[in-house]
Amino acid sequence: MAELDKPQREVEVPGDWTYASAPESRDIVEIADRYGHFVGGEWLEPTETYETIAPRDEEPLAAVGQATAADVGRAVAAARTAYADGWSSLPGSERAKYLFRIARILQERSREFAVLESLNGGKPIKESRDVDLPLAAAHFFYYAGWADKLEYAFPNRRPRPVGVAGQIIPWNFPLLMLAWKVAPALACGNTVVLKPAETTPLTALLFCDVLRQAELPDGVVNIITGDGRTGAALVESEDVDKIAFTGSTEVGKEIQRRLAGTGKKLTLELGGKAANIVFDDAALDQAVEGIVNGIYFNQGHVCCAGSRLFVQESIYEPLVAKLERRLTTLRVGDPLDKNTDVGAINSAAQLERIRELVASGEEEGAEIYQPPCVLPEKGYWFAPTVFTNVAQSYRIAQEEIFGPVLSVLTFRTPEEAVEKANNTPYGLSAGVWTEKGSRILWMAHRLRAGVVWANTFNRFDPSSPFGGYKESGFGREGGLHGLEPYLTFEDSETFGG
Ligand code: NAP
Ligand code: MG
Repeated sequence: MAELDKPQREVEVPGDWTYASAPESRDIVEIADRYGHFVGGEWLEPTETYETIAPRDEEPLAAVGQATAADVGRAVAAARTAYADGWSSLPGSERAKYLFRIARILQERSREFAVLESLNGGKPIKESRDVDLPLAAAHFFYYAGWADKLEYAFPNRRPRPVGVAGQIIPWNFPLLMLAWKVAPALACGNTVVLKPAETTPLTALLFCDVLRQAELPDGVVNIITGDGRTGAALVESEDVDKIAFTGSTEVGKEIQRRLAGTGKKLTLELGGKAANIVFDDAALDQAVEGIVNGIYFNQGHVCCAGSRLFVQESIYEPLVAKLERRLTTLRVGDPLDKNTDVGAINSAAQLERIRELVASGEEEGAEIYQPPCVLPEKGYWFAPTVFTNVAQSYRIAQEEIFGPVLSVLTFRTPEEAVEKANNTPYGLSAGVWTEKGSRILWMAHRLRAGVVWANTFNRFDPSSPFGGYKESGFGREGGLHGLEPYLTFEDSETFGG
C-alpha cells in the first residue's frame, strides 16, 4: 500500500496512567439519623448519644447511644431470660438453622455491609468486600456446622453452654470481630451481649436487622453501643458468665485484674508486633507482595500485622529497593473507591498515636521513607511508611503502632532471626519467607507466635484457630479450639480460655 493511502488517524497517547476513580455508591446503604441499643429484640431508647463519623472526611453519619450501666444491666437480663427460656436447651440442629440463615443473609446483603464498613471505619472497599464480608459469613457457616456436633467434637466430656457471654470488640474489623465472637457463642448455646468499638458501631447495628430477618429469638443477641465505660460496665456485670475481649493489651490486663477471683471465664485477644522474616533464598517479588499485604492491609490496623520486617543481610539492599519501588504504586485515598489500596486512618486519636510513634522513630535515628502521595485534606490520613536503620531498642521496633508503618531490621543466621523475632512482649503471629520446607518447619517450631505464615501473610480461615502467646493474650478463636471458651465440661474444671 502506498504511503499516501494510509488513513491518517490521530491516535491519542495517554500521558497520564493514573487510575480513574471507581467509586462504590454509598446510597446502597441506609443509615438512620439515630440508633438506640438492641435489647431483647427491641430498640431501647438511649439516655445519652454521641456522633459517629466517616474517617475519610469527618462527615457525621449518625447519633449512637452511649449505654449506661443500667442499659448494660437490661441487656444482660434480656440475654439471661433468652438463655433460660429455651435457647440453651434448643437442639444443636435447631441452633444451626439460625446460624446458617444469618450466614446466608450476610452474603445476600454483603455489598450493603461492605459500603457501611468502609464508610464508618475507613478501610478500602475492596478489603471490606473481598475479605471482611466473605470471612464474616464463613464464620457463621463454619460454626453452624459444629452446633449439632459438640458431643462429637468433645467426646465423653459432656459439653454444656456457659451462659451469658459479654463480648467487647475493637474497631479494625468491626463486623468480622462480631462474627468471630457471636458465631461460636451461639453455636454452643450461649446468649450474648456485645459492645462494638466506639468509633465503628454501624455494621453491628445493621447486623441487628439481620438477626430480625433470621428470626433469631429475642434476647439471644443484644447489642449495646458506647465507649470504654460501657465495656467496663459489661465486664463488671455480675450476671455475665464469660467475657471475650479483643483489643489493646492495656485494657486486656485491666479486665483480667477485674475478673480475678470471680470465676468468670475469660479470653483475651490483644496486641501484636509480628516479625515477617525473609531469607535470602525467598522469591523476592513474592515476598515484597507479602510484606506489603502484611503491613499496609487495613492501614496496618491489624493486630497480627507484619510490622517488623527481618531481612537476611545478603538481600537487604535489593529487597528494600524493591519494596520502596512497590510503595510508589500503592493508591492511598477514598475508602469507597474500588481502586484504593490504603484507606483512611480510623480516628483522630489513632492518627495522633501513629504520628507520635513515627516522630519517635525519627528522633531515635531511624531513616524514614514515604512514597510521594497526595493525601486528602479532610479526614485522617497517613502515608505508607518504611523505617530502615532501626535498632531493636527503638520504640518503633518494640511498640505496636497499629498504622501503615514498617520497621526494617536485619539478621544473618536462622538462630539470630528467631532470637530477634521472639524479642518482644507479644506473640500473636509471624511470617517466614524461604524456599526450603525444612527451614519453614524449623522456624515455625521456634517462633513464639500463635500463627506462623509461610510464604504468605494475613491469611485467615474460620477453621484455623487464632490467638496469642505472652502479652498477645490467651484463648483461641476459630476452629475447634474456638468452641472451647464457650463451653463447660462436666468432666473437668476449665481455666481461663
Ligand atoms: P481498646 O481501646 O482496648 O478497645 C477495645 C474495646 O474495648 C473497645 O470496644 C473499647 O471501647 C473497649 N474498652 C475500652 N476500655 C475498656 C475498659 N476499661 N473495659 C472494657 N472495655 C473497654 O483497643 P482498640 O484501640 O479499640 O483496638 C486496638 C487494639 O486491639 C490493638 O492493640 C490491637 O492489637 C488489638 N486487636 C487485637 C486483635 C486480636 O485478635 N488479637 C484483633 C484486633 C485488634 P472504645 O471503643 O470506646 O475504646
Ligand atoms: Mg479505645
